[in-house]
Amino acid sequence: MNKSPQAAPLSQVLRSRRWLLWGALLALVLALLGVLVFLAAEYEEGRDQTVLERDAAQVASDIRSELFRNVQTLQSLHSVAPTADSWAAPAAELLSAHREMVRLEWRSSTHALLAYRDTPYLASLSGYLNREQALPDVRQACDNARRFSGPAFSPSYFWPMVGGQGLELMEMCLPVARAGVPNGFLVATYSLPGLLNELTNKAMLRGRGLAFTEPDGTRLALHSTVSSSSSRRRTLQASTLLDLPGHTLMLRMESPRQVVGLFPNVLTAVVGALSLALLAVLALLGRDMRRRQRAELEVADALAFRKAMENSLVTGLRARGMDGRVSYVNPAFCQMVGYSAEQLIGTGLPAPWWPPELIDEYQQRQAVRLAGQTLPREGYESVFQRSDGTRFPVLIIEAPLIDAHGVQTGYMSAILDLTEQRRVEDINRASQDRLQATARLATVGEMASLLSHELNQPLAAIASYATGTLNLLNDTTQAPPTADLQLAMLRISEQAERAGRVIKSVADFVRRREQVREPVAPQSLIDAISPLLGLQAKKQRIRVHIDIAPDLPPVLCDRTMVEQVLLNLARNGMQAMPEGDPPAPERVLMLSVLQSRLQSGVSVVGRAPKSWVEFTVTDRGHGLSAGVQAKLFTPFFTTKPEGMGLGLSLCRTVIEQHGGALTFEPHPPRGTVFRFTLPVA
Ligand code: ADP
Repeated sequence: MNKSPQAAPLSQVLRSRRWLLWGALLALVLALLGVLVFLAAEYEEGRDQTVLERDAAQVASDIRSELFRNVQTLQSLHSVAPTADSWAAPAAELLSAHREMVRLEWRSSTHALLAYRDTPYLASLSGYLNREQALPDVRQACDNARRFSGPAFSPSYFWPMVGGQGLELMEMCLPVARAGVPNGFLVATYSLPGLLNELTNKAMLRGRGLAFTEPDGTRLALHSTVSSSSSRRRTLQASTLLDLPGHTLMLRMESPRQVVGLFPNVLTAVVGALSLALLAVLALLGRDMRRRQRAELEVADALAFRKAMENSLVTGLRARGMDGRVSYVNPAFCQMVGYSAEQLIGTGLPAPWWPPELIDEYQQRQAVRLAGQTLPREGYESVFQRSDGTRFPVLIIEAPLIDAHGVQTGYMSAILDLTEQRRVEDINRASQDRLQATARLATVGEMASLLSHELNQPLAAIASYATGTLNLLNDTTQAPPTADLQLAMLRISEQAERAGRVIKSVADFVRRREQVREPVAPQSLIDAISPLLGLQAKKQRIRVHIDIAPDLPPVLCDRTMVEQVLLNLARNGMQAMPEGDPPAPERVLMLSVLQSRLQSGVSVVGRAPKSWVEFTVTDRGHGLSAGVQAKLFTPFFTTKPEGMGLGLSLCRTVIEQHGGALTFEPHPPRGTVFRFTLPVA
């Protein structure tokens, strides 16, 4: 199939655009999936963060409430008026119960140390620095405590210890009273790591990091950290403020975040799985679309091929619905009738190509077709009219149009324009006629000598009668005998008529040209040629024997042509019997006509059987050799020096044109029989 030069680049552009669209779709889907996974991860992280922040707030609140509970416990030290000595024992007890406190001091209102006690758990607390160094913090806390009339805390500070160690400490000052009179301060020194260790819920801290930090993130005290060994771990952080009277601490909680592969948790895994399913569906869709496209391309190719075929056909194609409305015409049909496809499609009956005077007949034909009669497979001939009004013969072959459900929806017709065929037939017929006429003239030419011989006799007789008459008239001795003169004139006239008949028989034979088929009695055919036959027979001393069966029906034929056939066969037969061969008694030519035994010569489907009349021409000549038999009907084949070789080939054409057959066979012991049949009228 030819594709136009623009078609290739166009299809390439379409293909690349398709790929572009597919690429864009895939990129969008991937982006969407990425965003979904990211959002899911973010959501999970946000949720974890919220939990962490809530827990951090919980831890801060736990520490705060524990600190305030401690305040009550500390106050119990001073519920009974203690002395410096009586104070120490409960203080030591308290310190051993509360590891977060590293030291308890009882100070006077002027901050003079009245009694103190260190924690039993830390031996190296003092010894590196003097306790007095922490006094400003104690003072600040106690000033605040006095102002608040309640516990107050100092900012935390680092307390170095022997051995390079140190602790972040914080003072809490609690004003104490005895019998309603202020009785100095109770100062508790808290270790920040102790706060984290002792005052928090351990279960909540499992696996998490907890520390007090500066606002800038510097760690002050650490309870635990999150191991950051694995690169796959990320940590979540939550900071919360631990608001204490006089000072605020920042508490930071850390939690590891397990990142397992691409999908850290169920939600993202579900989103990922859905995304994979979506991708798979997309791939399947893509494959399906590719197949579909391939099928579409194939269908388009097939359609283009069919279209090209239809357009290149010289046969007109036309489809009509059951109501006679035209639903399709091909270019050949449009060209035939001279209308465009747009003008034809949708037109009903009477069709625009029907000649007006034939509309009734065609309507009837349509009615017969609609009545469900079977269509002739060999088609039927009809006449159409072009848009310019000219007529032309067509052959229409129709077939029912059956749709996919097996229902007939109309008719498909193939229409052949017979104009050219008719023209060729006419030319053939004309040349056949010319050939026939030529052959007849040739026959006449061959007969010219016989004719002159035949005419000689009456002419000689006329001449001698005329001489005799003249002699009688010239004889002045006696009066001319009227009776003799009359007789002589009668004979002259008879001979002249005879000569005229001879000439007329030839002229008739040559001149008769009408091409009509008419019922002709076999006898009259034989009669027409017998004068001409007689001429030759007489010359060759041949007896012509004619045998016509009685009560023969007339045959339907072109009389001139059949006469020519008979004459040809008879003359061939006589020419096969030259002078002396065979000897005189056997020199017979037999013409016979009888009813054929055949009921139907050539069987023609759909036509009524015919009966036939058989003509035979039998000679006793030299017969036909195998070589001659093979070429007998070949035009211009002859064995005679003066022959043309056209006789038998024309004879066969003529007989076959009449529907009959020309055959021959040997006639033992010598001679040949030529036999032909003609249909009974
Ligand atoms: P033509 O008579 O001009 O030769 P035909 O076509 O009539 O042409 O005959 C062709 C040849 O067939 C003849 O030349 C002759 O040899 C042979 N032929 C025809 N009829 C007979 C016959 N009855 N007997 C023998 N030969 C025949």
